[in-house]
Amino acid sequence: MTESIGDLLPGMRRMGLNRRTTLAQLDLTYGAGYSESTGDVHAFPVTGMPARNAYQLIHDSLKFDGDPALNCATFLTTWMEPEAEKLIVENLGKNRVDIDEYEATERVHRRCLAHLHDLWNGKAGQEATGTVVVGSSEGIMLGGLAMKWRWRQRMQAQGKDTSRPNIVFGANAQVALEKTARYFDMEARLVPVSDGSRYVLDVERAVEMIDENTVGMFVILGSTYTGHFEDVAGMSAALDRLHREHGWDVPIHVDGACGAMIAPFAFPDLAWDFRVPRVASISTSGHKFGLTYPGIGWVVWRSAECQPSELTFELSYLGGVEKTFTLNFSHPACFLIAQYYQFIRFGRSGFTRMVNACLYHARLLSVALEATGAFECVSDIHRPRGQFGFTEATRLASSKLFAESAVSQKSGADPSINEAYNYGQPEVAFRFSDWFIQMHPTASQDVVSTLLRVRGWIIPNYPLPPDRGSIRILRVVIRETSSEDTVNRLVRDIMWATQTMLESEVKSLGEALLRPLPPAVSTSDLARDVAATHTETMDDTRRSSHWQVLLDKIGEIKPATDVVRDKEAQKTVYQRSC
Ligand SMILES: *Cc1c(COP(=O)(O)O)cnc(C)c1O
Repeated sequence: MTESIGDLLPGMRRMGLNRRTTLAQLDLTYGAGYSESTGDVHAFPVTGMPARNAYQLIHDSLKFDGDPALNCATFLTTWMEPEAEKLIVENLGKNRVDIDEYEATERVHRRCLAHLHDLWNGKAGQEATGTVVVGSSEGIMLGGLAMKWRWRQRMQAQGKDTSRPNIVFGANAQVALEKTARYFDMEARLVPVSDGSRYVLDVERAVEMIDENTVGMFVILGSTYTGHFEDVAGMSAALDRLHREHGWDVPIHVDGACGAMIAPFAFPDLAWDFRVPRVASISTSGHKFGLTYPGIGWVVWRSAECQPSELTFELSYLGGVEKTFTLNFSHPACFLIAQYYQFIRFGRSGFTRMVNACLYHARLLSVALEATGAFECVSDIHRPRGQFGFTEATRLASSKLFAESAVSQKSGADPSINEAYNYGQPEVAFRFSDWFIQMHPTASQDVVSTLLRVRGWIIPNYPLPPDRGSIRILRVVIRETSSEDTVNRLVRDIMWATQTMLESEVKSLGEALLRPLPPAVSTSDLARDVAATHTETMDDTRRSSHWQVLLDKIGEIKPATDVVRDKEAQKTVYQRSC
């Protein structure tokens, strides 16, 4: 510590310290030391501070973030093995784009592309055309751009106008799809979704929106809203028909942000990938079910012809000649390396077990939630294949199927179990059942979502896509790190939050929250117990008593007796709480 105090003066003044402050005191992190709340936090810092203090200050202020492990809203990877983290740290200083300097990293890049090309059933023996990107968004934009350029070349060759390109996709699209259209000057034609289309792309309505100015279609494998897969093969067949009738040759880019890393393992027989001739390109998020930390995605083209050469730049200023087709230039190499680690660490069998475990946990949660009577799922991942939407009959059918297959599903090794269930990604979108809303017209899913935050869970409550936006859903994404214990606790806490909300209609919220928490031990096997309770058709009276039986099951929570209607009791409680 040889710096003169004068060097530190401007910063000290900003921090409210005076000349007599000693360096020893300055090194305090708190107390008279540094804190974000003193001084002007908007001005660029005049002086620095010791590393230890900078670390502590930032470390502590980030505590206000939610816990990624309990963030049920995110699809992104929140945990990797220590060996993967070691590789990440070892390679943090490498820029992926310097392929001449980091020739071994480039080999990893080529190998990952080849693996994905193979996984997505690209033509054997053909070199994979594609690139690592920052995330699916960049992959989607590149896929959209390639389709736009190829369309323009086709139109120009026929001497036709190219000033009004459009691109067609479902209204359930993630924002990246709309960005692509707007950023690259294409009209976005959003296909309305409906209950009948299960809130995803409606093939027949899509066909109506296509014309000769359609550069291509985005088909989504794994709707963000509800986890349903869109029908790639069905869309392709419809486009074949249009091609025959009108000569419009419309390619497909598959937005496989989640699904492209799920379908190959859970639903190997589903043709959604390069087996479908119209699929020109596929993008995925390496940082979702590719099981790698945020900052990585992929886009792969069927073949080099699908990627217009004008979009590829050849650079020579890094030494050697390098070809790039990306939006971003520099890019961390470490996540690419971590992605390769996951590929060789897990292989097909490991990914299959992981994906199946996620699907099992998602189905367990779905069946348990529906068995409470209070909720119904808008997602269909737990229903027998071909059955969609909640009715008492579909509920019973899925709970029966789940009970029969729970043991073999749990082992996770056999993807054939998925043949009995609907396609989709491990995502549970649910809402209050009609019965529950009838009983409790003022009940609010927002309150349930907020109360769950008290327990650390982050579970968003948001509207379905435009056209069905009046329906709001709570959504839980099941990831690799979600265990059966997670589901048990989640079921308990969702019931707890729901009951607390009901009770707060007569008590103050403070009073409702004062009830003791059920002991943690009661949650083991809770979800499966709950799932197994409600195995016959119920009428409304039985639903009420059923809910109360379940509350007993989860522990100390005793429902207030018929809370909504008892005005007298309401008054007493109110007076007491004043
Ligand atoms: C997450 C997601 C995206 C965007 O992916 P990023 O990797 O976050 O850029 C696009 N489409 C769908 C369907 C998604 O789920």
